[in-house]
Amino acid sequence: MRTYNLVKRVLVTGGAGFLGSHLCDRLLAMGHDVLCVDNLFTGSKANIEHLLPHPRFEFLRHDVTFPLYVEVDEIYNLACPASPVHYQHDPVQTTKTSVHGAINMLGLAKRVRAKILQASTSEVYGDPEVHPQPESYWGRVNPIGPRSCYDEGKRCAETLFFDYHRQHKLRVKVVRIFNTYGPRMHPNDGRVVSNFIMQALRGEDVTIYGDGSQTRSFCYVDDLVEAMIRAMGTDDGFTGPVNIGNPGEFSMLELAQQVIGITGSRSRIVFTPLPADDPKQRRPDITLAQQALGGWTPQVDLATGLRRTIDYFRAGMGEG
Ligand code: NAD
Ligand code: UDP
Ligand code: UDP
Repeated sequence: MRTYNLVKRVLVTGGAGFLGSHLCDRLLAMGHDVLCVDNLFTGSKANIEHLLPHPRFEFLRHDVTFPLYVEVDEIYNLACPASPVHYQHDPVQTTKTSVHGAINMLGLAKRVRAKILQASTSEVYGDPEVHPQPESYWGRVNPIGPRSCYDEGKRCAETLFFDYHRQHKLRVKVVRIFNTYGPRMHPNDGRVVSNFIMQALRGEDVTIYGDGSQTRSFCYVDDLVEAMIRAMGTDDGFTGPVNIGNPGEFSMLELAQQVIGITGSRSRIVFTPLPADDPKQRRPDITLAQQALGGWTPQVDLATGLRRTIDYFRAGMGEG
């Protein structure tokens, strides 16, 4: 017998991307019906190929800047390029995706009374002068720089989520994701973990931008997906914003050395110019997540996560 009340119809926008595809896996494993919507700008069918035959999985190629009429119970809004290289390629489209995409998905949630979660970002804190960053910090973001299309787009999306919540009583959840990595990142994604691993595996120079003293905190994808699922399951009174990430903080020089060490590569480290507005430090304060998400805490440390990710990229090179 089917338990109709437990099986939810869940929409994942950006579901063919790195994080979205892992989220689709997890939702299907939980027994839900999953509708994956993606325009394949940075995502790929390869990420969801294994899901296509699944009877509870559906893929729709669609751009979220255009309206979407479907019937669902929950929406995870992840559609948006996340790598600086890709989101700066067509910055106007990036802002449209964040802002028009949010409006359309919120309009959809309003019509069908769905619960909706926004994949926001630590970039809302910009280049922070408060360290580590708690949710109460309003950030330091350049409104007119090359990163602004993403940072301000995501900030405006948060504004929309809270206005739909206050104005239309929508059930919303906003999670601020800090740098997350793992298998299915695109080899040419341009973000630091995939760049360093691919360079090390190919024996090419490992490119550190600037002097490598800038820091980031890296969360393994499984820990992130677990937190997103828990955030969606919180009481209606809980909206976030809530930081999700791993508070372990590493300089880019330390990251490069770890990647070279684990791969056993002979690559050299080279230093190239630092891009404009590159944040100098970033580490999440995850006190709220630990309290609100049922005892959630990251389980996978950087060395373990890097080993798994390196195995994935190595296997991909073998196939290629
Ligand atoms: P990704 O680039 O792999 O995934 C984004 C997906 O969105 C891709 O599949 C892409 O094709 C799709 N997309 C882009 N524009 C779209 C549009 N207009 N319509 C429909 N689909 C569109 O990146 P990711 O790392 O998986 O990031 C997923 C989400 O999480 C993004 O919203 C990103 O801002 C957020 N996030 C990620 C990180 C991280 O470190 N991975 C950190 C902070 C926030
Ligand atoms: N929208 C959508 N799917 C729906 C309902 C709405 O894509 O099922 C879009 C619609 O195009 C609209 C936007 O969401 O522009 C915002 O909807 P809302 O109802 O909040 O505002 P309005 O329709 O009044 O502009
Ligand atoms: N970075 C680097 N070499 C690379 C790619 C990135 O040193 O090949 C640096 C980048 O300048 C930034 C950090 O690594 O300081 C993280 O960059 P990423 O693009 O992964 O994410 P974000 O800057 O959005 O946190």
